[in-house]
Amino acid sequence: MLDFSIKNNALASKVILVTGAGDGIGRQAAISYAAQGATVILLGKTVKKLEAVYDVIVEAGHPQPAIIPMDLKGATAQNYIDMTDSIEHQCQRLDGVLHNAGILTVLSPFEQIAHDSFDDVMKVNVTAPFMMTQALLPLLKKSKNSSIIFTTSSVGRQGRAYWGAYSISKFAIEGMMQTLADELENTPVRVNCINPGATKTQMRARAFPGEDATLLKKPSDIMAPYLYLMADESININSQSIDAQPK
Ligand code: NAP
Repeated sequence: MLDFSIKNNALASKVILVTGAGDGIGRQAAISYAAQGATVILLGKTVKKLEAVYDVIVEAGHPQPAIIPMDLKGATAQNYIDMTDSIEHQCQRLDGVLHNAGILTVLSPFEQIAHDSFDDVMKVNVTAPFMMTQALLPLLKKSKNSSIIFTTSSVGRQGRAYWGAYSISKFAIEGMMQTLADELENTPVRVNCINPGATKTQMRARAFPGEDATLLKKPSDIMAPYLYLMADESININSQSIDAQPK
């Protein structure tokens, strides 16, 4: 699937929600989905960034996207229910969700992880995709086939010193993906994870300030699995955790 070459307009008529669509990998995924004909719903915290992505998509002549400004740290179950109602009302359908938004916070020894920082990471990286998926599932089940993609990390499969809350949150994401994929096995909804691998974004720069970022892949270099898992070619793929940059 990493050499997957997508057919022109392969996502035409699909409606796809991307969280963290204003920056980094989510920004690129939103643009790539729109370039394949999808109507993209751009969800994120910083409205200016979402508007900039909106402009790129519209100026390129792709389907007009929608914007949902939302801070995942404070969002409630009711916010997600209201969001689902408004997607159904405005777009009539939902065929895919890319849970991409995430935070890292400071890397530190386990004993020094601040409790409020742990809570923030869990809220954005785990509770938000959990509650959002719960609210969206009835709508996703109405689609002929739909795809949920969670975003994992190599530290969500093998713990690493000092990556504390972030690492724990990504283990939870792998567990959420497997649990939900098993539960939905005989439904039109498929559920998978993507581990982007080291990618040139602000998050990566914060984690590795000293590295030569010119050696890293850019978000645009790793889009193949993101496109594949949203396209109909992946209808039979379920419960996989895919490396966008396998070793
Ligand atoms: P990034 O450049 O920091 O982008 C993160 C995105 O999440 C931004 O659009 C940000 O919006 C959004 N976000 C953060 N907190 C939010 C909140 N409270 N509410 C709503 N949106 C929020 O990070 P990235 O590198 O693209 O990472 C994307 C995903 O890939 C993450 O899940 C990350 O864990 C994972 N990942 C990345 C790498 C890598 O090397 N880059 C490696 C493995 C896994 P604002 O800009 O508005 O804050």
